[in-house]
Amino acid sequence: MEMFCLKCRKKVSVDDSSIGESVVNGRRMLRACCPQCSSNMAKFVKATIQPQTLS
Ligand SMILES: [Zn+2]
Repeated sequence: MEMFCLKCRKKVSVDDSSIGESVVNGRRMLRACCPQCSSNMAKFVKATIQPQTLS
């Protein structure tokens, strides 16, 4: 997927398998490493926390 790198100041393509996900204050947050400058990128996504009944 594409994420915006603050250091490169542009969108970079990140491999899906290298994207981590965490929940901060009820909001989902994606974490990834920029393939070009190796800096950390974080991106908040819409709070669509799936019910835990989904496997
Ligand atoms: Zn970068």
